[in-house]
Amino acid sequence: MNRTDPPDGPPRRPRAGRGARGDGGAGRTERVFAGIAVSAGVAIGTGFGTTEPEAEITRSKIHATDIEAEGARLDEAIAISRKQLTKLRARLAALPEDSQAEIAPLIDAYLMMLGPSRLIRGARRRIAETLFSAERAVVEECEAIAAAILAIADDDEAGQVRRAEEVREIGRRLVRNLTRQPFRSFAGLPEGAVLVAESLRPADAALLDPARLAGVATDEGGADGHTAIMLRALGVPAVLGAAGLSAALLPGDLAVVDGSAGEVVLNPSPDRLAAARRAVTAFARERQKFARLRRLPSVTLDGESVELHANLEIPAELPLIAQSGATGIGLLRSEFLFMNRESLPDEDAQTETYRSVIEAMGGDPVTIRVLDWGGEKDIEALAGAGIVPEAADTNPALGLRGIRLLLRRPELLETQLAAILRAAGAGPTRVLLPMVTTVGEVRRTREIYERVVRRLRRRGERLPDPLPPLGIMIETPGAALSADALALEADFFAIGTNDLAMYTLAVDRGESDVAELYDPLHPAVLRLMQFATEAALRMRMPVSVCGELAANPRLTPLLLGLGLRSFSMNASAVPRVKQAVRTVEIDDCARFARRVMEQADPARIRELVLGFPLATTT
Ligand code: PEP
Ligand code: MG
Repeated sequence: MNRTDPPDGPPRRPRAGRGARGDGGAGRTERVFAGIAVSAGVAIGTGFGTTEPEAEITRSKIHATDIEAEGARLDEAIAISRKQLTKLRARLAALPEDSQAEIAPLIDAYLMMLGPSRLIRGARRRIAETLFSAERAVVEECEAIAAAILAIADDDEAGQVRRAEEVREIGRRLVRNLTRQPFRSFAGLPEGAVLVAESLRPADAALLDPARLAGVATDEGGADGHTAIMLRALGVPAVLGAAGLSAALLPGDLAVVDGSAGEVVLNPSPDRLAAARRAVTAFARERQKFARLRRLPSVTLDGESVELHANLEIPAELPLIAQSGATGIGLLRSEFLFMNRESLPDEDAQTETYRSVIEAMGGDPVTIRVLDWGGEKDIEALAGAGIVPEAADTNPALGLRGIRLLLRRPELLETQLAAILRAAGAGPTRVLLPMVTTVGEVRRTREIYERVVRRLRRRGERLPDPLPPLGIMIETPGAALSADALALEADFFAIGTNDLAMYTLAVDRGESDVAELYDPLHPAVLRLMQFATEAALRMRMPVSVCGELAANPRLTPLLLGLGLRSFSMNASAVPRVKQAVRTVEIDDCARFARRVMEQADPARIRELVLGFPLATTT
């Protein structure tokens, strides 16, 4: 976390920030706090501080004769808590659909914990056996459950912390209802205010009305927590983890929350305020346009459909993908399953993960790329399991990477293929092979694929019919130049321009010293893309682009002009690219691509690309 103005200790009064004078309150000094950008957008409003002291437990022990009465108190608190949560759930109907989808499962989880759960059973036992008061029994049991959750060896540490926090959260609700101490209320929140708090619970976030609130900023919280996810889902600009902010806020302070940059400014200088106002207007305009775009079809002005899919690096991106309007996952980079661990994920664990992603996509296709270890992607589990040597090769990008490694260690590939095949019953799925350079690699992989299919069928697994297609990445010049031969072996192509540019230009994609030479618009890269695209189109075989190039709307006309109709990109880029698609005609794009492909100078190509008249209307 990067903090530009860390407070030392909890200041009661604002200290001078960067010397500028703010205009938020008469003569107040500007102060800048850096935190975590969790929900994009800029908000300007009067800071409204809220605090909620922990509910105090004054009665800790009971007499043996009170066990039954204490159980009845607990029952009553459970009933009140259920009622509150049910009311909260009903309020969700007023929120946008995305927000409902995000928040409802959490409230359901809370309600389940209030049923015949381990929490409630444990609390009753503590009342009866230890003679604890109901509130103490609840707190102790919640802590025990949270500790057990955190003690499990799990790769999803953020998820564990979140689950433990959910248990504590329901415990706090019960204690408040047992001790009849009121919850923090947001009723007094003035319209257009910026909510400033030490911390905010997910259930608090669910109480906020995004139409009345400008933004949210807190001292505590992380980018992965439910509160962050909810604020994003509510579309409220938000910064969490801005340490010292709530203590520095004085009544009447003006606050600017930059949820894209992760910065909060109290009493901004006139210049900063003017810039923030411009950003608010620009963001509101863009959001309106993008919200409309999400539901609009991805078609060109002359009616040609263009497939826009999202790339997925970790499952946490799924809600963003849902919001983006992407109609599938064009590249699931499965490396996340193998990272930060000492052993390899087994078939069942992989099946579970793939299945949950496929299910989450609700019938939209998911393209799962098998493990692409190597190059800059270092995976400890493979070294730990003795699959690759601890020390990387001197030239890892040219070494045992992607499909080469998998064919050298077929047991890795077989496990992954089996998991994908088992999960594929949950929705349309495709399998993608990384770093292919020869037809032999595709043939050998297909043999393994068929062997895995036979084995699973013998085991009695039900597999989809037809089986998931087996496609390849075109990301090496070798693959691009043998695309016509590869098209006879593969079921689809996905052009990976990130590596294609690296290997074509002999420029490391992650090396800053040669960054200006890394140019996917170099004619050599474009010609390879064109060659591979045409080979696929001749065979009437699906072909897409899933490198970063596809995410740049400025390049959409060129890619469409080359004959491409399917792109996969980071979710946030989907609306912009859709906008570009909807403003062009294929004939213009084709003419434009012909012109571009006549050029030999990358600088001239760039100039042409920037000069293409992309209308801004949708
Ligand atoms: C690519 O190389 O363009 C690609 C999409 O794969 P990755 O970025 O995962 O190497
Ligand atoms: Mg690649």
